Amino acid sequence: MSEKKIPYKIYLEESEMPKQWYNVRADMKNKPAPLLNPATLKPMQFEDLRPVFCDELIKQELDDTTPYFDIPEEILDFYKMYRPAPLVRAYFLEKALDTPAKIYYKFEGNNTSGSHKLNSAIAQAYYAKKQGLKGVTTETGAGQWGTALSMACSYFGLDCEVYMVKVSYEQKPFRREVMRTYGASVTPSPSDKTAVGRKILQEFPGTTGSLGCAISEAVEAATSKEGYRYVLGSVLNQVLLHQTVIGLETKAALDKYDIKPDIIIGCAGGGSNLGGLISPFVGEMLRGEADYRIIAVEPASCPSLTRGKYVYDFCDTGMVCPLAKMYTLGNGFIPSANHAGGLRYHGMSSILSQLYDDGLMEAVSVEQTAVFDAAKQFARVEGTLPAPESSHAIRVAIDEALKCKETGEEKTIVFGLTGTGYFDMVAYQKYNDGVMSDYIPTEEDLAKGFATIPKLPGIQ
Ligand SMILES: *Cc1c(COP(=O)(O)O)cnc(C)c1O
Repeated sequence: MSEKKIPYKIYLEESEMPKQWYNVRADMKNKPAPLLNPATLKPMQFEDLRPVFCDELIKQELDDTTPYFDIPEEILDFYKMYRPAPLVRAYFLEKALDTPAKIYYKFEGNNTSGSHKLNSAIAQAYYAKKQGLKGVTTETGAGQWGTALSMACSYFGLDCEVYMVKVSYEQKPFRREVMRTYGASVTPSPSDKTAVGRKILQEFPGTTGSLGCAISEAVEAATSKEGYRYVLGSVLNQVLLHQTVIGLETKAALDKYDIKPDIIIGCAGGGSNLGGLISPFVGEMLRGEADYRIIAVEPASCPSLTRGKYVYDFCDTGMVCPLAKMYTLGNGFIPSANHAGGLRYHGMSSILSQLYDDGLMEAVSVEQTAVFDAAKQFARVEGTLPAPESSHAIRVAIDEALKCKETGEEKTIVFGLTGTGYFDMVAYQKYNDGVMSDYIPTEEDLAKGFATIPKLPGIQ
């Protein structure tokens, strides 16, 4: 056994940073199901996707066989501004819990956007710029993705149009102002700027919006203008690919000290941070080199893995996007106003859906107040104020560490701390005032969402 003392923070040298992204699909025996063209129900080809996405990103999206992609020099340079991200040994949390478990977290909040989303934003902006585009459009829920993308676009001198879910636009004015400071234009969604937005407003007057609806608007905005493409901050294979910098750095840091994790935990909204964190580890599992317990954590209010169906569904409410096979609550599912905005998506990455279906990953759902209990406990002992999304992973890491206390097992737990909670003070205020509610959808609520899943002759 190695007796090396583990430092509070394990940093990598700049020279030890990953120079390639790892594509876990290359090692998957059961590949994630292809995106389908909703008009023909045939797998989406490069040409079908060209009006919507940047060329290089489509290649990454459709590539199930290339195991490694070189990270372009320009992106590596940008990564160096805020990476490598530290892997922290949560000594203070372990002590507070009085657990024999060893807890580590990978902290991705060390940049102005406050989350891991910048890892993919900078890659997507780079490929848009390289293609000679004028700008990109996107949606943002809680605002982290829009913030990350506006930073990335300003770095490369691209125009950035953000459709922001209306409830967040109103509740999170500071996020909006960060985006505008970096030069983005921000529109509350649904809006009357697009045909799909006008239609949704007519059908559901007074709606506070949803991520699926904002996606529809952003796609329409991109495809109806010359020189623009749409970019997405989660769910897609390309985004998981970029986010593997998280897992590759984590693995490199652990390897430096001969640490083998037993349990790897991450919160799951669309699945990008979790997919990025676990990819190198899942790769080892798929190749028969190692075994880990992997746990996806989702909010009980939006339980796509734990209560959803594994079927083809639209990625957006307006049904303009391709069909993806995923664990879904139905594209029309509108989750109750949950404060973990970044986890309120009806579906889940196709890669994670397939891994979950194949039994390579577990999933649990947790309730909001229990999540904030964990957030508070973590903030008080480890110092960092966590994002509500990230706190889902903290909750389960603490629960697993407490199980170790009962059994006396010295398990090594690694979790992803995806971001900081500085812009989530409305949620913390509700929690501190004791007025936070835990809404769990009823079977009836779920049935309404499931009814919006398309019936596809010959497929499902
Ligand atoms: C967006 C976000 C998430 C969830 O998105 P994934 O694509 O599932 O990773 C988690 N944490 C933070 C801080 C976020 O901003």
